[in-house]
Amino acid sequence: MKASAVDCDITIAKWNNVVAIDSRPPVVPFVTCSGLIPLQNFDHMKSHEAAQLYFDKAADKLGLNPAIRRMMIVAKREVQVEIPVEMDDGRLETFIGYRVQHDDSRGPMKGGLRYHQEVDLDEVRALATLMTWKTAVVDLPYGGAKGGIAIDPRKLSVKELQRITRRFIDQIHDVLGPDKDIPAPDMGTSWREMAWIRNQWEKYHGFNPACVTGKPVEHYGIEGREEATGRGVGILAFKFLSHLGHKPQQMRVALQGFGNVGSHAAKFLYESQYKVVAVGDQTGAYYKADGLDIPAMLKHSLNNKGLLQGYSQADKISNDELLTLDVDLLIPAALGGVITAANAASIRAPMIIEAANAPIDPDADELLYNRGVRILPDILANAGGVTVSYFEWVQNLQYYRWGLNRVRQELDAVLTRAFDAVWSEHNTSHCNLRTAAYMIAIRKVQAATELAGHQ
Ligand code: NAD
Repeated sequence: MKASAVDCDITIAKWNNVVAIDSRPPVVPFVTCSGLIPLQNFDHMKSHEAAQLYFDKAADKLGLNPAIRRMMIVAKREVQVEIPVEMDDGRLETFIGYRVQHDDSRGPMKGGLRYHQEVDLDEVRALATLMTWKTAVVDLPYGGAKGGIAIDPRKLSVKELQRITRRFIDQIHDVLGPDKDIPAPDMGTSWREMAWIRNQWEKYHGFNPACVTGKPVEHYGIEGREEATGRGVGILAFKFLSHLGHKPQQMRVALQGFGNVGSHAAKFLYESQYKVVAVGDQTGAYYKADGLDIPAMLKHSLNNKGLLQGYSQADKISNDELLTLDVDLLIPAALGGVITAANAASIRAPMIIEAANAPIDPDADELLYNRGVRILPDILANAGGVTVSYFEWVQNLQYYRWGLNRVRQELDAVLTRAFDAVWSEHNTSHCNLRTAAYMIAIRKVQAATELAGHQ
């Protein structure tokens, strides 16, 4: 599908340096309105277009009426800001930051903040819609949002990152808050950025740690948040595989990504006796047929700026090879769009868990489904992080703190409930797990939207 900037039908209102894009129906959702976003290659299917295809499949199955469908697709608010920052060497650099608030019918909007050089409005828009379905499928009282800044954090100093983060919050603090929109970590950000965000937001609005989650424990964070997404992947892997009649000890696993999600998932799987035979990160991948020593790899990466580069106790392979290994379970836990129509035929794993957001393109999804590959979709598979973020927010609002065991137990309970609902929906509706998860989520958002009335 193609789009062109000429067909752009959006209105722009400026306030306090914030460009708010009041988006209309996504006839042509991919536009450059300020001239600040570089033009994209529209021949390739865009992230938001892909996310919408999954939504459409489930909406068709539910017979969702066109007016509600339109309301659900269009984002409530899209914000793009310029972030001028003085660099350590005195140069002035201007970065672009985004926050897309997709839907708030079920509660305040919730979603991570991504720092990556390829971040653009289209990607953030797609990820914001995913958050709406994700919070609904695990039944958290939230809507969906997402943010991002187009930077490569590894090329910036800590001081520069702090200035960029604080300046971004200066620009968008008005649209954030505990009962509006609550950011959290995503790719390229962690508890460190969340502490800066809290501090900067509170300069405008006063003490309220519930304004952001994923904070350090010393800053009203919660124990178990850092491990939550990876641990959730592990909990759901166990449910998924046992429903398909497999035991952990029989499973050979390949995992792409060794950051927050990938490393914690690898640790959990290793401790649960899965044979993790391959893991990789941006520097390459490592393979060992009889199982990798995950604790040793964690130690290596900890002492090597978070990278696996130079690990010598396994065979080095490429990231493409990792994806196509002959394994039982493949877990993409790094970037979106890594499995496409171009490599789907080479994927040999019969089961895939989408730990990353949107790692499989819709055309690849179709090809894999037709070949009988079972896929646990992102909106359920990586919902552990937002679930523990919700626990953190609840505790901040109550000035109360749970211990790690309670956090883990509650996480297990929420994810198990959500998994059982999705599994049962896919059986009764005779569809795959992704469509089942979307159907559950859409029904919840639809009910909340309709009950609120439209006057
Ligand atoms: P991260 O920045 O901590 O780690 C990303 C990992 O991906 C790193 O190991 C990096 O080296 C690797 N990587 C980057 N480019 C790569 C490439 N080209 N090939 C192979 N590996 C590459 O990010 P994260 O927080 O672990 O997030 C990973 C994914 O999980 C993202 O899609 C994110 O949206 C999703 N997610 C994260 C959370 C969370 O709580 N952090 C929650 C839900 C979903």
